[in-house]
Amino acid sequence: MVELNLNHIYKKYPNASHYAVEDFDLDIKDKEFIVFVGPSGCGKSTTLRMVAGLEDITEGELKIDGEVVNDKAPKDRGIAMIFQNYALYPHMTVYDNMAFGLKLRKYKKDDIDKRVREAAEILGLTEFLQRKPADLSGGQRQRVAMGRAIVRDAKVFLMDEPLSNLDAKLRVSMRAEIAKIHRRIGSTTIYVTHDQTEAMTLADRIVIMSSTKNPDGSGTIGRVEQIGTPQELYNRPANKFVAGFIGSPAMNFFEAMVEGNTLVNDAGFKITLPEGKKRLLETKGYNGKKVIFGIRPEDISNHPLVRDTYPGATIKAEVTMSELLGAETMLYVKSGDVELVSRTDASDTYEPGEQVELTLNVATGHFFDPETEAAIR
Ligand code: ADP
Repeated sequence: MVELNLNHIYKKYPNASHYAVEDFDLDIKDKEFIVFVGPSGCGKSTTLRMVAGLEDITEGELKIDGEVVNDKAPKDRGIAMIFQNYALYPHMTVYDNMAFGLKLRKYKKDDIDKRVREAAEILGLTEFLQRKPADLSGGQRQRVAMGRAIVRDAKVFLMDEPLSNLDAKLRVSMRAEIAKIHRRIGSTTIYVTHDQTEAMTLADRIVIMSSTKNPDGSGTIGRVEQIGTPQELYNRPANKFVAGFIGSPAMNFFEAMVEGNTLVNDAGFKITLPEGKKRLLETKGYNGKKVIFGIRPEDISNHPLVRDTYPGATIKAEVTMSELLGAETMLYVKSGDVELVSRTDASDTYEPGEQVELTLNVATGHFFDPETEAAIR
């Protein structure tokens, strides 16, 4: 059992006027795969390094299995950290790379041998034990790096952008590899990335963070925006930031006025709201007010059947670009000052300048307050 509690953790770097990380509050369950995701500078690495013990915690409490470890040295926390750069020793075999840390810690030879062979078995590295890192694939090298953590019985794995140095194809296969290894060894893991696809595909739960500029312009303040499963963040984003960060291409947004059961935009389109959405906006006091409407590219359709079903939610637009991605086409359009992207069939081809009719599946849309940008729900 390895549980972690990050209780209202704050970080202020020496000489900084503001917190680089503010009020990070999270309980991590045994075996959970947690991903910290957000744009550069939002405090992901800082938080990870506080868990590792490489940075002091300014305020708040970090517990590992119920014990407060704020003042414990990194080596005594039972944590293994895997960085972008695996830093394997090139002149040593796979076996020696995995055994090295144990030798330093004066483990007995028999014990080392047993641990290395067990880890190699788990990781599918048995047949490579006598090879040097240069003779391994990127994926195998990564497994060796993880092996070094496994032999030490690390309770918690911390990974900081472990895939960001790899090319796109390798990144996808390594992502699958990490997921597979996690399923096999079940170690509690925190993984840092700026890539929402990695977060969506790997995480049991995602912690999505944002950064705002300090009022005095020096540095940034990092905050947690939402914590939840990938599905929760995708389907029920707490605010516009989360809605826009998760999903690719990003959610479309435009401002509109709520007039009874109609959404009216300055650019001139009128969209009929389904009864449920109308009632929600009315109850929350938005009738006669502006909202930000958000809709995902897959919820905007060019299909005549959909148009005939929801004639009140159809807009006319001009194609600006059509991107064929093989299995699908991303159709970029403009209607007045509103730019939208719709995910359509690969067989649909359009030329820039062409007029199209697109239907918005308003029932799946999201509404945000224009001031606070919080979801209206
Ligand atoms: P992320 O990992 O999300 O990109 P970081 O945790 O690296 O973000 O950085 C968060 C903020 O803390 C940034 O504004 C960064 O400039 C600042 N920061 C990071 N490391 C230090 C440091 N050693 N000293 C001072 N400020 C730092």
